[in-house]
Amino acid sequence: MEKDIDSTEKTEPPGTNEDPGHWEEKRYSDPSLRKIHHRENSKIIPIEKVPYLRSFRSNHRSVAFRGRFFPDATPTEWNDWRWQLRHRITDIHTLGRILILSEDEQRAITGFTNHLPMAITPYYASLLDKGNPLQPLRRTVVPVTAEYVHSPGEARDPLGEEHDSPVPGLVHRYPDRVLFLVTDFCSTYCRYCTRPRLVGNGSKTRFTVAQWERAIAYIEASPTVRDVLLSGGDPLTLPDEKLEWLLSRLRQIRHVEFLRIGTKVPVVLPQRVTPAITRMLKRYHPLWMSIHFTHPDELTPEVTQACARLADAGIPLGSQTVLLAGVNDSLETMKQLMHGLLRMRVKPYYLYQCDPIVGSAHFRTPVEKGIEIIQGLRGHTTGYAVPTYVIDAPGGGGKIPLFPECIVGRDGDDLLLKNYQGHIYRYPDPGSELGSKEPFKPSWH
Ligand code: SF4
Repeated sequence: MEKDIDSTEKTEPPGTNEDPGHWEEKRYSDPSLRKIHHRENSKIIPIEKVPYLRSFRSNHRSVAFRGRFFPDATPTEWNDWRWQLRHRITDIHTLGRILILSEDEQRAITGFTNHLPMAITPYYASLLDKGNPLQPLRRTVVPVTAEYVHSPGEARDPLGEEHDSPVPGLVHRYPDRVLFLVTDFCSTYCRYCTRPRLVGNGSKTRFTVAQWERAIAYIEASPTVRDVLLSGGDPLTLPDEKLEWLLSRLRQIRHVEFLRIGTKVPVVLPQRVTPAITRMLKRYHPLWMSIHFTHPDELTPEVTQACARLADAGIPLGSQTVLLAGVNDSLETMKQLMHGLLRMRVKPYYLYQCDPIVGSAHFRTPVEKGIEIIQGLRGHTTGYAVPTYVIDAPGGGGKIPLFPECIVGRDGDDLLLKNYQGHIYRYPDPGSELGSKEPFKPSWH
């Protein structure tokens, strides 16, 4: 296979900072660095002279929002992803200036501290409805007290990732591929996140260069691994040089054929997709990207530009969407989202049934709802617009596509599913009849 990187070339870890995920945050805590410079290819450039920052188009809503809540920010600063990260909304005081918070939201933000933190980029905050706590996008990023309710069948690590983790930060479940968790940092925290145990400083795992080295050594020693998925946290929140160091090290491993990045950054922080990072990513092909979309309201001009830059760099783009009650659980919403993604050259890839993490009951729909949506899409619209509907099997069974033959029965409130190895797993699915007619012979895993 052709590789852009000379496999004998040894690259140095970028910088000496021991915590790659927070490198940018530390820089920003120095007020003298604010509002001054942009860094690209090791050159320091006055921010107002960076052409792509001036030319990035903003939607009307974000322009009005900036004028109202960040009147001192120039359009160029607003379009600088580092400015966006520095000004993330993380406290009730700032959010309360922007939104009329319900009592429940206020209690959720202030009352519980040992939990997934709140963080919202100013850009994404500009898309939220000020007066409606039930607006789909708002529900995905503003905490509510239902997050603190532990319902039956929910778990802290429902996918059993820790069980399949040979070294910290690496999940090796399928023979030919690994999930490499490279940071615990996200620019915006989704309230239905699958890994609240890991992201947002909740983890005991330190995402250091030393830990990356251990994961890379494991991959080097595992010749069956041909596919590495970088995830986290969000890998695109890493500075270019750190991400490039990781990609170049992985590219030097001969049996790794293919790299993937899982990210929500193009949706919540589209300004991050700079020409510099797309040029860098292009050097590590074949490189694919799975982008986490939730709702058609996310498909703004900014996101369209970000996806266009990635697609123009030859990166195949796929979407991952979590089915969420009251957010995107209607055929019409899902159809709009999938059609919009195709227009942006993103192939709808997976529709996930929401994982039963602790505090997710208010987001989970019956499995029947997902099947109904897929049936409403299949045949009724372009085949490319139909994602595969999957349940990531609780207990570590991997993704099970919801084809009729995978549903093997029901045991009370649990739907019984068969994975690709023929093993049976349970998914908590109260209040549904799906699977109750199928004959079931138990063979537990
Ligand atoms: S972007 Fe992914 S890892 Fe980060 S909070 Fe959202 S779901 Fe979790």
